[in-house]
Amino acid sequence: MVKLLRSIGLLAMAAAVVWMVASEMIFHENRVSQVRLLLGAGALLLVTSLLLSMALRLSNKVTGSRCPRCGKPVQQGHIYCQDHLKEVVNRSRDDQRQKGDLG
Ligand SMILES: [Zn+2]
Repeated sequence: MVKLLRSIGLLAMAAAVVWMVASEMIFHENRVSQVRLLLGAGALLLVTSLLLSMALRLSNKVTGSRCPRCGKPVQQGHIYCQDHLKEVVNRSRDDQRQKGDLG
């Protein structure tokens, strides 16, 4: 998501520069307002992606990337450490089995 925003922003800014040069050299026209719009949009996307990546990094630090059971650091996107992940998976499997027995 962040990478997509950033690449679109860069693309828009590059397109704006190309457009500016092309319109002056080929068409001999000055399309400053259009170019400025494109540049602004690109810059806005870049800033948004930057803020998003910062927010994501912050929320990762705040909410953990640490196991809630033992406090060990865990891989990105994971909630539990390896040991406790196994435990949680086993327990949910047991729960499902019990539910199946009941009805
Ligand atoms: Zn753990």
